[in-house]
Amino acid sequence: MKTVDEAAREILESFAPLGEERVALLSALGRFTSGEIRARFDSPPFDNSAMDGYAVRAHQLLGASQATPVRMAVRGESRAGGELPEPLAAAAAMRIFTGAPMPAEADAVVLQEDTARAGDEVAIHEAARAGANVRTRGSDLRVGELALPAHAPIGAGEIALLASQEFASVTVHRRPRVAILSTGDELRDIGEPARAGSIVNSNGYALAAQVLEAGGEPWLLPPVPDRLDEARRALRQALSADVVVLSGGVSVGEYDVVRDALAAEGLTLDFWKVRMKPGKPLAFARSGKVPVLGLPGNPVSAFVTFELFARPGIRKMLGSASPARPRVRVRLVERLERKPGRMEFARARLLRRGESLEAELLRRQGSGAVTALAGVDALLVLPAEAETLAAGCELEAILLSSLPADSG
Ligand code: AMP
Ligand code: MG
Repeated sequence: MKTVDEAAREILESFAPLGEERVALLSALGRFTSGEIRARFDSPPFDNSAMDGYAVRAHQLLGASQATPVRMAVRGESRAGGELPEPLAAAAAMRIFTGAPMPAEADAVVLQEDTARAGDEVAIHEAARAGANVRTRGSDLRVGELALPAHAPIGAGEIALLASQEFASVTVHRRPRVAILSTGDELRDIGEPARAGSIVNSNGYALAAQVLEAGGEPWLLPPVPDRLDEARRALRQALSADVVVLSGGVSVGEYDVVRDALAAEGLTLDFWKVRMKPGKPLAFARSGKVPVLGLPGNPVSAFVTFELFARPGIRKMLGSASPARPRVRVRLVERLERKPGRMEFARARLLRRGESLEAELLRRQGSGAVTALAGVDALLVLPAEAETLAAGCELEAILLSSLPADSG
């Protein structure tokens, strides 16, 4: 049996970033750059004013103050999107607005708040240094400069940068298509008539949602009966995807056909069984470049094993250089007694009290308890050998959501 870390490492090694594709700018949200992206032009593209005020020659304002204002004629105007301004007239100031091009020969902008306008004249109460309140051409980014490195995650901020550089499309890694196969004679789809002993295929939907959250493209296939020929047929179909995630049928019962189906289809089964709770049976195999993960059928086990073993691989295929979920140190709220032996991933809610993050176990910790998947913020890592965990002790938690706000 493998430890969780060994299994996770081995599985992740079998995933590689997918090839690149060019997508429309907004479709790049949530993806990763496949190569460096360099500036196409200077940003800002021309010298412009950072404020509403007056464009001036700074040296003409030496000694300006409230007591000794410098008076100047106002000649011309420059506004954002308006006509290009004439050069600044001698010994004059030009009215200027935020974002407007600087007139030639002006080197600073004085704030409107530091002036008093009277007809065609302005009294300036503040001296200015050359360059004050001017955004010079290329001061943010110069043409050819690195805008985004390879493997950069593209969020709203990166879209802002790419849009400002007029990228209508972006080259990113392809999104992995993830086939989802749920096995079990008892499964029916939502809306299908209930049969005696049937249950809804909730794993299919849960896994599809996890794939979407990870940035992959789920391919939800119909449930597969517990028969070798059916499992083999479904597997052959699923192998046209980039990744195959199976749930159920990986244990040792007579109706657990997944491992036999993998073997019959000629896949190399790298291992099965990981020393963890929930989710001991876990099959990992490969077919060429396609990793195949057989997760346990219990909904909680399927959810947790997907998080630990499938999600990082999907993030890596997308091009992420740090595909793991963040881990944080938390304090256990209540004392806990447990059976030692397997590393455990308890479903927890997180609370922030001042500087400290506290973890409260969700009420039901059984591997079939779907109620404990709603409201889960983190997987609390309980060390394999720990028997008693005191209230207030520090543990590691895998963050599934963003950090909670301070609850006082
Ligand atoms: P198995 O791993 O096939 O032995 O299944 C373990 C438990 O999980 C059984 O109670 C199954 O009924 C349940 N189960 C298996 N697959 C699913 C699924 N797709 N959705 C919901 N529950 C499932
Ligand atoms: Mg089953």
